[in-house]
Amino acid sequence: MAKYKMAIIGYGGMGGWHHASVRDNVKSFEVVAAWDIREEARAKAIENGLHAYNSLEELLEDKEIDLVTIAVPNNFHKDLSIACLRSGKNVICEKPVTMNADELREIMQVQKETGKVFSIHQNRRWDRDYRCIRKIIEDGTIGKPYMLESRVQGSRRSMVGWRGHKVNGGGMVYDWGVHLIDQMLDLFDSPVTSISAHLFNIFSDGVDDNFKVLFRFENKVSALVEIDTNCFITQPRWHMSCTDGTAVIEDWDLNGKMVKLASDEQMTWDNDIVYTSAGPTRTMAPRPRETTEELALPEVNPQWSEYYENIAGVLDGTQELIVKPEQALRVMTVIDTIFESDRLGKPVECRI
Ligand code: NAD
Repeated sequence: MAKYKMAIIGYGGMGGWHHASVRDNVKSFEVVAAWDIREEARAKAIENGLHAYNSLEELLEDKEIDLVTIAVPNNFHKDLSIACLRSGKNVICEKPVTMNADELREIMQVQKETGKVFSIHQNRRWDRDYRCIRKIIEDGTIGKPYMLESRVQGSRRSMVGWRGHKVNGGGMVYDWGVHLIDQMLDLFDSPVTSISAHLFNIFSDGVDDNFKVLFRFENKVSALVEIDTNCFITQPRWHMSCTDGTAVIEDWDLNGKMVKLASDEQMTWDNDIVYTSAGPTRTMAPRPRETTEELALPEVNPQWSEYYENIAGVLDGTQELIVKPEQALRVMTVIDTIFESDRLGKPVECRI
C-alpha cells in the first residue's frame, strides 16, 4: 500500500497524465481524488476511479491528503499553491511555476511559514537527451563545453486553448522554454551574465509562438535555446561544441554521435590551400578522416518516477529535494529577463 495520498487539481491533459503515471510507476503515492472547475473533467476523474471533490474548499479541508499536484493553466498556479500550502498540504506545481519571479517569491514565503514541501514538476530533467548531454560534459570525453544549442522544433502552428492567451500564461517561453531553460541552468553552476531574446508572433495573437534566446554564463559557456512551432526543416535537438570535439543529439530517440580529435592526432597534412567547390581555403577544407574519431553517445537510463519518489523521501526526512523552489526562482528570473530583453530589443546584462 502506498504511504502517501495524493490529489490532483486540474484533471485535464496533464492532470490525467499525472494520475496514470503515478499509478503505474510510483510506489509511494496513491492518487485518490481530483478537483477541476469543469464538470466533464470531474466526471472523467470519477470514471477513472477517483473521488471528485465538489469544490476547492472540500479538497483543502480533506485531512487525508498529503500531497496536491497542481496542473491548471499557469495564471492560477500561484493562488492555488498558496491555498494548498496554507491548508497543510505538500505541493507539486506544474511548470512554469508562476507567471514571474515575484509571484514565486510569494509562494516561497508561504512555504517557509508553513514548513510544507513545495516543488515544481520540471520532469524534463529526466529526459534521456538531456541526461546524455549531462553525461558527456561530466565524462569530459570531448573536452570542456563552450557553446550549446538546445532546440525543440515543430511545424504544427498549434497554440490551442489557454496556451494561445497571454492572460493564462500562454506562449512558448512559458510552455516549452521553461523546460529547456531549467535544463540549461541545471547544467552549469555559474551565473547567467547576459540574455538576448528574440520572440516572434508568427501566427498567434499576442503570445510568442517561436523564440530564440542567447545566454552567456560567467564561466564563458554560451548557450542558444530555441523553440519553434513554425519550423518546416528541423535542426538537431542538441548541438554541443567542446574543446576537443562536437556532440550532436538529433532527436528524442537519441540518434546522434560525438566526433573528437583522434588521440594521436598531429598536424601531419600539408598546410597547402585546398581547392573546394567554394574555391580555395585552408581553414574550412575537410579534415583528413584519420585525424578524428567517431564515438557513440553514452548510455543513460533516467527514471522519471525518481521525481515523485524524491518527494516521498523528503516527506520521510531521508532525502534532499531535487527540484527546489530556489532553482525555479532562477528560471523565473531568467524568464522575466527574456521578456525584458525582447521588449527593449537588445541584450540585457544580468547576474542570475
Ligand atoms: P489542460 O487545458 O489540458 O488542463 C487544464 C485543466 O485545468 C482543465 O481540465 C481545466 O478545466 C482545469 N482548470 C482550469 N482552471 C482551473 C482552476 N482554477 N481550478 C481547477 N481546475 C482548473 O492543460 P494542460 O495541458 O493539462 O496544462 C496544465 C498545466 O500543466 C500547465 O501549467 C502546463 O504548463 C503544464 N504542463 C506540463 C507539462 C510537462 O511536461 N511538465 C506538459 C503539459 C502541460
